[in-house]
Parts: sequence; structure tokens; C-alpha cells
Amino acid sequence: MKDRPPALLIVGSMAFDDLQLPTTSARNVVGGSATYSSYAASLFCPVGLVAVVGEDFPDGDLEALARRGVDLAGLERASGKTFRWAGRYDADLVSRETLDTQLNVFADFRPKLPRAFRDCPYVLLGNIHPDLQIEVLDQVREPKLVLADTMNFWIEGEPERLAALLRRIHVLVINEDEARQLSGHHNIVKAAKDILQRGPARLIVKRGEYGALLFDGESTFFAPAYPLEDVIDPTGAGDTFAGALAGYLAKHEDVSPGALRRAIMVGTAVASYCVEAIGTAKLGRLSPADITGRLQHLQSLMHVAHDEI
Ligand code: AMP
Repeated sequence: MKDRPPALLIVGSMAFDDLQLPTTSARNVVGGSATYSSYAASLFCPVGLVAVVGEDFPDGDLEALARRGVDLAGLERASGKTFRWAGRYDADLVSRETLDTQLNVFADFRPKLPRAFRDCPYVLLGNIHPDLQIEVLDQVREPKLVLADTMNFWIEGEPERLAALLRRIHVLVINEDEARQLSGHHNIVKAAKDILQRGPARLIVKRGEYGALLFDGESTFFAPAYPLEDVIDPTGAGDTFAGALAGYLAKHEDVSPGALRRAIMVGTAVASYCVEAIGTAKLGRLSPADITGRLQHLQSLMHVAHDEI
């Protein structure tokens, strides 16, 4: 009998992060784009994970993902060290500087999809070398929707490979600075126009505490961020947003413009929890009721009843 494929395939980094936050610091925090996205997406649907970790990656963290319905058949444990990233945040917790990136086991990683993963209908190509994102895509048969994330490191370092990737995806999810860097336009509307001509039919621009914008060439949609009093660690918020968004779409098997708008609101609600603790601590404990509560609050942020002007 043929195995049923997971609804959503996720590829990305699994990492140890060293974080310098305004009032504290933390070392060896389990992170990485695929880790955050998988935590978030598994709130909504079964996930197939494709990534590599080194001998030093804790079993307990993999078991926690497996307990959430993340299929680890595509996870390789290679000899060597896990990917490592170090970053320092400014006092505003918005701007950050990458202090160090060590690819380690990712440098020689060649993703090989388990047979069942090749029929995944939804694919999230998390932030990692664009060649690896392309290699994964080459092995998926007929995906209904391909979403991709990337970051300044690859925009600067691998512009041609990134251009090749952009021609093959449906939705690009990047932050505002990355959209500017990729397009060469400071104005975000101009940047979006430019990026939509490079391949993806839809562009989602994450603006941190200022929300997210969706461009599809015909219309623009805006979702505010959830206003939070205590932001502890923004690392992984973007990956959490993309994971929840993709997981929601895969669960509902809907790629319509309306579904994408709803998915952005859901991604915003889940990401708001990510930043309230270091690493995935809070994400691992979320319930559907938590998410619904924040969604309702988010909707009420924009509710207004005009009688007259
Ligand atoms: P975000 O805050 O959503 O941009 O994601 C931060 C996560 O991305 C961290 O957990 C890092 O381990 C991971 N990361 C940082 N740089 C890279 C990179 N060049 N490639 C892949 N993952 C990265």
C-alpha cells in the first residue's frame, strides 16, 4: 500500500543559536528555520521534515517534534556539528546583526526525499541555501503550492541561485529589509512590483511589529501585528509565521486569495507567541484556544463602525 504523504513538506535549517538580547543572552538555543516552522505548522497538519543535524543535536528535541506529528523520515543525522548561528539584537528588538553563521553539516547536505514525501501537496522551502531549496523542489512531483523564505545572507551571497528559485515558487515570504535588498527599491510597493516580476505570483512582506503585507499584482492586503507588552526573543518569528501560514493552507487545502488572507492572520497570531519566550519554549505549549483568542483580538484591532464622516 502506498504511504499517504504528509500534507506539508518543510525544508530548512535546524540549528544551535547564540543570542545576545538587550537584557539577557542565551547560548545553544535549539532553533533554525525548519525547527520553528515545523513547530508552528504541526499545530494545523501533518508535516514531513527534510533537514540535517549533527551528532551534537539533542534527541529530546527530535522526539518533541515527532510527538507533534512531524514525520522525521527525511531528517539526516550526519557526522559533524549542527548548523550554528549567532545574532545580536538592538535595544528595540527589531534590528539585528548576524555575528556568525557556521554551516557545518549543512555544507555537504544533499537532501533526499523519502518516497512518501514526493507527493506532498504543499511545500515550504524554509530559509537555507537556495540550491538546497531547488533540490527539494526537483524531487516533489506536483505540488499545489510552493512557498519560500530566504534571508540577506543568501540574497547577497547567492543572487543567481536565488533568482532560479524565484522562477519556480508561488509565494515568497520575506521581511521588509530583504525585499528592499532583493529588489533594489526602498519603496515597498515598488519593491513588491519588481519581485512579482521575478517569478512568484504572490509576495508576503513581513514588517515585524508593524505587521505583514500581501501583494499579488492585483490587490494588497495588510495584517497588523499583535501588540505585545513583553517581547523576549524575536528569533524565529518569521519562520513561525511562515510555518503556521503554510500549515493552515495545507489543512484547509485552499490556495484562494481569501484563504491566504486568513492564513496570514493565523501566522501573525502564532508568531506572536513565539517571541514571548526564548527559542521554541512557548510554541511547544500552544493550544488551539490560545490561537483563536489572539485571532479574535487581532480582528478587533481593525474593527470600526462608521456612522458618518
Ligand atoms: P528568523 O528570526 O525567522 O529570521 O529566523 C531565525 C532562525 O534562522 C535562527 O534560528 C537561525 O538558526 C536560522 N538562520 C539564521 N541564518 C540562517 C541561514 N543563513 N540559513 C538558514 N537558517 C538561518
